[in-house]
Amino acid sequence: MISIKGLFKQFGELEVLKGIDLEVGKGKVVVVIGPSGSGKTTLLRCLNVLETPTKGSISIAGQTLDFSGGVPKKNIASFRRLTGMVFQSYNLFPHMTALGNVMEGPVTVKGENREQARQKAAMLLQKVGLGDKLDYYPHQLSGGQQQRVGIARALAMEPEVMLFDEPTSALDPELVGEVLKVMKDLANEGMTMVVVTHEMRFAREAANEVIFMDKGVVVERDHPENFFTNPKHERTRQFLNLIR
Ligand code: ADP
Repeated sequence: MISIKGLFKQFGELEVLKGIDLEVGKGKVVVVIGPSGSGKTTLLRCLNVLETPTKGSISIAGQTLDFSGGVPKKNIASFRRLTGMVFQSYNLFPHMTALGNVMEGPVTVKGENREQARQKAAMLLQKVGLGDKLDYYPHQLSGGQQQRVGIARALAMEPEVMLFDEPTSALDPELVGEVLKVMKDLANEGMTMVVVTHEMRFAREAANEVIFMDKGVVVERDHPENFFTNPKHERTRQFLNLIR
């Protein structure tokens, strides 16, 4: 579903991604961990073309963008629609209800009929456990509820892949579980997901593969069981010791 080849990203002099190669199969869940500043968010933002890689190529669901000859001029908008992004800070429209937030993309970006978009949005909000909050505004919702609206909003665009950038980091501890449950349900339904998170329990329980990034490279990748019980690289061991 995803194939990243030789991906580099530079911000001025700072090289943040230094040749990432990564394959993610359809329906697989990959959790990306690593120290702050290792390039995890930048990698996700490159997948969504919120950042333009300096070099390399990304293929998702059979569409490829190659950045080696500069910024591709075509197909960025359609490529971006292959992925749905969930941000740490929710990024909901404050002046729109939960329903309005979820309908917005399908209506304005995809030109879907309002009534159909409304029905789909209501169904998705139901799915994330917010069927009774359709008309609530973001400020009337808890952080966990807002993040679940964020997930429903990304799903409404019917992406091939869901990208999560520390989706629970801004939440009070008691609200983390409800968001992780929605993510686990999605994984069980076969959604392909790339998740940057510090939630090691989620990684153990839901990931098919855990990837450890440090200083812009993938240091180690393995099935969660091997990864956590028998990490091969010293840097991985040090990191796991710090967060455990
Ligand atoms: P992580 O998600 O692993 O914490 P990031 O991908 O957010 O790492 O950041 C990696 C490095 O890139 C950091 O040093 C950060 O300061 C830098 N960086 C990220 N975005 C930008 C930007 N837009 N401009 C300049 N530097 C950036």
